[in-house]
Amino acid sequence: MKASLHRPTRAIIDLGAICFNVEQISRHIPKGVKKFAVVKANAYGHGVIAVAKSLQDKVDAFCVSNIDEALELREAAIELPILILGVSAVESIPLAIEHRITLTVASKEWLALALATYPDLTGLTVHIKIDSGMGRIGFRDLSVLNESLTKLQAAGADIEGVFTHFATADEKEVDHFEQQLHQFRSFVEKMEIRPRLVHASNSATTLWHSDTIMQAVRLGDVMYGLNPSGSVLELPYEIKPALRLESELVHVKEIEPGSKVGYGATYEAKEKEFIGTVPIGYADGWTRDMQGFSVLVDGQFCPIVGRVSMDQITIHLPKSYPLGTPVVLIGRSGASEISATDVAEQRGTINYEVVCLLSDRVPRDYKAD
Ligand SMILES: *Cc1c(COP(=O)(O)O)cnc(C)c1O
Repeated sequence: MKASLHRPTRAIIDLGAICFNVEQISRHIPKGVKKFAVVKANAYGHGVIAVAKSLQDKVDAFCVSNIDEALELREAAIELPILILGVSAVESIPLAIEHRITLTVASKEWLALALATYPDLTGLTVHIKIDSGMGRIGFRDLSVLNESLTKLQAAGADIEGVFTHFATADEKEVDHFEQQLHQFRSFVEKMEIRPRLVHASNSATTLWHSDTIMQAVRLGDVMYGLNPSGSVLELPYEIKPALRLESELVHVKEIEPGSKVGYGATYEAKEKEFIGTVPIGYADGWTRDMQGFSVLVDGQFCPIVGRVSMDQITIHLPKSYPLGTPVVLIGRSGASEISATDVAEQRGTINYEVVCLLSDRVPRDYKAD
């Protein structure tokens, strides 16, 4: 889909904030630790090419979720190493070799399929994934892992790294985290071929378990200025949110008591009131459960009244405002602020989902500082 450029609705991405966040993290982790910027899912909705270009001399590598996301970076002339965190189709092995894209090897079954088609893996760089307790992908058995390492090496692959992923690093309770850490460390110790890069830390681990950082950190949510725990754990240092979502009033009217607003006529005016219409809806990722939440106009919280439509929402205004008056959906307006976490809490979800769900219809505008 083409972005709707002639509509006032846009996400304004502060690339300076993303760079600031990476620098802040750098100051709080041991020197020499490699920084992998996780830019999967269009850089969590922030726009992958702009984000990758602004970060390429500040980080050591990029992580994405699949080969198409990796190729998009290569097509944009991004030269840094790229690690695919998920399982890739074995058919993409030649592409990975050609474009210097690092694949994750997560099971002996995948390796068997890969070797059946491509017995010679010369030129392929891989990271091994250990499932230490996340339960998605990765080796869970040490002897199976060691057999696979031998086969990979015999086939000529470069086994550069080994990693795991924590399920609960953003929670107060640390038992499961400790268990995973212990499991991963003991696996790594017993690997018969020891890769050069051992890494485990996502954003939450980097923030709240910095004493466990190994040779690299994989930074996602925190880099975009979001608290990976939502509001459960306090940030140990300042980070700045990089995404602002704004629009404008395109229609303002005064309605009479008894007037209804929106699909299903779910809202009825009790008294005379001003209603503003804003051109954003669930097709932009502003989901229907935002009914009852607020947006900011002139520094004031204005409730979203009536249903969220595909392309429009209606808001209660304290007074009449001219067309073109700014409306802030995520970000600051005067002394007030709505964060992606506030939006997430309204929806019973996490800030990750809020930013990722902003659709291609919403243009991303960039400012450098
Ligand atoms: C997405 C992802 C990350 C980044 O997670 P954040 O919580 O956003 O830092 C790191 N590692 C893996 C394996 C991932 O899938």
